[in-house]
Amino acid sequence: MRVYNFCAGPAALPESVLVQAQQEMLDYHGKGLSVMEMSHRSADYVAIAEQAEQDLRDLMNIPSNYKVLFLQGGASQQFSMIPMNLLRGKATADYVNTGMWSDKAIKEAKKFCNVNVVASDEANHFRAVPAFDTWQTNAEAAYLHYTPNETIHGVQFDFIPDSNVPLVADYSSIILAEPLDVSKFGLIYAGAQKNIGPAGLVVVIVREDLLGDVIKGTPTMLDYKIHADNASMYNTPSTYAWYLSGLVFQWLKAQGGLEKMAEINKRKAAKLYSAIDTIEFYGNPVAVANRSMMNVPFTLANPALEKTFLKEADAQGLLNLAGHRSVGGMRASLYNAVPEAAVDALVAFMSDFAKRNG
Ligand SMILES: *Cc1c(COP(=O)(O)O)cnc(C)c1O
Repeated sequence: MRVYNFCAGPAALPESVLVQAQQEMLDYHGKGLSVMEMSHRSADYVAIAEQAEQDLRDLMNIPSNYKVLFLQGGASQQFSMIPMNLLRGKATADYVNTGMWSDKAIKEAKKFCNVNVVASDEANHFRAVPAFDTWQTNAEAAYLHYTPNETIHGVQFDFIPDSNVPLVADYSSIILAEPLDVSKFGLIYAGAQKNIGPAGLVVVIVREDLLGDVIKGTPTMLDYKIHADNASMYNTPSTYAWYLSGLVFQWLKAQGGLEKMAEINKRKAAKLYSAIDTIEFYGNPVAVANRSMMNVPFTLANPALEKTFLKEADAQGLLNLAGHRSVGGMRASLYNAVPEAAVDALVAFMSDFAKRNG
């Protein structure tokens, strides 16, 4: 039996995608071998890779002056690739600090430049996005980096910042959750294992004119232009993860695209937050306007019951509800592949658990 998986990442994948991958596993489209065993230079694999890119371009409406790269190293490697590629002779970059992931990006960028933290919610324990009119941006900054959705703290931006310098965003846990105007950004990146596909892949969407001026000493493998000029096949890419992500893109198209996903995702999140707000036993500390649609942390009135909660949830097929080790409590991640029925089952369990323990 398949369980409901609320893991923050690697996360749930659509069941029909897994079934299709299983059917194609031993003999891909009558070729007599699996996708994993194909040369990345073969016509069959190149067709898979190109189709995946086209489907992502269609889903996100990516303008033609943007490159789409399928790289390795996770979102974390982007923390260093971004300054190496986007400083372009400048000494400073602007960063917004809204949680652990922005903090990691900031720490890495400091190895390459002066980091100007334009706003931070650290003193408020990362429970809100600092109001835009309080931001101290630097006109000389090479770019402005922010994290639209903080996966651990469950904090989501309710606006896209206005910026005179290229906007760079870590969309790891919220890409493809709703429509997005890509043209507002210089660069968008997302580790695949949250809302795209399997681990081992990071998708980078970057405006062409930002490429080609890396800092001295940048390794070949960390230069976006090398990957762009070689269609992400300068070296062997993560072929199977790319293929499986492509199946997810096709699944998203079949669901009705990102407008439809946004509708479902909003409904799923509303159901869970409503349970948290109406059942006195539960709480969520994030400012209502910044509550994440994808990652919902919540606390129990009696933290001593956390282990029991997790054990009973597990027994009912509701898996991976423990919060991140750095913050504790509970967290339910509601990515695209988590069906609405999973949220209904979780809410029913939470209500029952509160009645028995409240
Ligand atoms: C998970 C996550 C990362 C790190 O991703 P890796 O692929 O493990 O490097 C970075 N940023 C955000 C917002 C994340 O959710």
